[in-house]
Amino acid sequence: MCGELRTDHVGATVSVCGWVARRREHGEHLAFIDLRDHTGLLQCVVDGAHDLRGEYVLRVTGTVRPRPEGTANASLDTGEVELGDCSVEILSVAEPPPFPLDDRAEDVDETVRLRHRYVDLRRPAMQRNLRTRAAVNASLRRAMDGQGFVEVETPMLIASTPEGARDFVVPSRHRPGTFYALPQSPQLFKQLCMVGGIDRYYQIARCFRDEDLRADRQFEFTQLDAEMGFAGQEDVLAAVTVAVGAAVEAVTGDPVSDIGRMTWRDAMDRYGSDKPDIRFGMELVELTDVFADTGFNAFKAPSIKAIRLEGASASTSRSRLDDLTDMAKRWGAKGLVWMRAEAGGEDGAVELASPVAKFLDAAELGAITERLGVLPGDLVFLVADEWAMTCHVLGLLRLELGRPAVDEGGLQFLWVVDFPLFESVDPTSGRPVPAHHPFTMPHEEDLALLDGDSDALLEVRSQAYDLVLNGWELGSGSVRIHRPEVQRQIFGLLGIGEQEAQSKFGFLLDAFRYGAPPHAGFAFGIDRLVALLLGEENIREVIAYPKTQSGTDPLTKAPTAIDAGHLAELGLRLLPPTT
Ligand code: ASP
Repeated sequence: MCGELRTDHVGATVSVCGWVARRREHGEHLAFIDLRDHTGLLQCVVDGAHDLRGEYVLRVTGTVRPRPEGTANASLDTGEVELGDCSVEILSVAEPPPFPLDDRAEDVDETVRLRHRYVDLRRPAMQRNLRTRAAVNASLRRAMDGQGFVEVETPMLIASTPEGARDFVVPSRHRPGTFYALPQSPQLFKQLCMVGGIDRYYQIARCFRDEDLRADRQFEFTQLDAEMGFAGQEDVLAAVTVAVGAAVEAVTGDPVSDIGRMTWRDAMDRYGSDKPDIRFGMELVELTDVFADTGFNAFKAPSIKAIRLEGASASTSRSRLDDLTDMAKRWGAKGLVWMRAEAGGEDGAVELASPVAKFLDAAELGAITERLGVLPGDLVFLVADEWAMTCHVLGLLRLELGRPAVDEGGLQFLWVVDFPLFESVDPTSGRPVPAHHPFTMPHEEDLALLDGDSDALLEVRSQAYDLVLNGWELGSGSVRIHRPEVQRQIFGLLGIGEQEAQSKFGFLLDAFRYGAPPHAGFAFGIDRLVALLLGEENIREVIAYPKTQSGTDPLTKAPTAIDAGHLAELGLRLLPPTT
């Protein structure tokens, strides 16, 4: 390969194949060609007139020789050698590439890159990303196989799965008017595998969800999906830790053997997020009790918390503070209180300067200083609201003010456990909304709360857990309900009646009648894991052929119209466009 040749190979006659990365003429008859394959570049010294242009595909045969004194190139792995006495075979001519294929491609419009993805893939960064992804997949398979998991492929054309997103559907030609759904996940099939005695299932599974796209989300994505029979949360966490650890080791060389844990409640309380980025501190500090009897109306709230931004007062302008206040309001807060810490008085004690300072008494100001460990030069931000809103707004503010760049701060994994079973209660229907999917088992000791009012329901903890990496939700899982009476009760609460349950998930409920072991599982996103391992902000950089943010593929032009005949065959007629 081009990138493999070293001084050890001097004297050898070799053939290398690749693309012309660069050509420099030396006089009329001598040209220096940098030939590129995925291993690197090799300088080939070619005699005689050749019309060799950029990205031509060549086979070059020649003799490896040291570069002449003083011409070695330290920035190339092959920089001490070159290929001389070359004979060149042109395997393919090429038009000039639509954009430069070296580091300058970073500035090229993404749509242009995606339209010519086959050229983009030749770039070293894309080669590295896809090869790393393959190494991660291989390490995951090894880790799962090594733990006795069995890879089972589940179908792509299925009836809808309840993961909470919109399904992509595929019309059936044989039964016009009916549709398959593409799986949002293999959830129901993997649970059926448990009934089927495949007590350790896994799959590197493609999943489809029709949701708005973002940097960390595509319509189709890949998960490591797993399920274990006769097992509970601890078994799943241990097995997933081994798999994730193997993937990290495959890329960084350092194993991850131990992943810390935090309850959902703690994560919200301390980081204002159910996917805390623990690469940095700036934790939310509880102040509710300090203001229990306050005279300041804005602080008469069920929850008050604060964060401290160390030494940031001087560098933060008043207009930036106004912007942050606007942001906090957009996130749902009624307001944002900021305070600048100054060294005041003779004793040098900290003084908090703020438009609201005059409404607070000395004890209150003193408590803020003490709880947050405020030093002169710091900035403090406070939010007073319902607990969930206080956490939410300060959690976002913390990220806005303190979050390290994607490739900084190392890899900080975290298990978040004890999620609530329901994320909210719909005010109109009075029905709870599940936080995970409807097959998630509540904590045994919280089962009684299922008979209570909506406040009680929101207290029910589930045996559900998330894996978080650097503030990204990598994946989720849960212990499943395998007892029909509990499942019936949950369906009832969610407003899924006997009949609907039977028509939607009848096959699962039926299966459970034939002997279901207790089981639990998990799935995590491979696109996200690989992106973070490579320090890429955008998962599109680790997917060979991604869709753009608007869900289109500039290369194949998907989605495209189909002709009238095809529509008729499927029994479909299009409505006129609504706009
Ligand atoms: N099916 C879930 C998901 O795709 C994961 C699980 O509960 O195993 O998020």
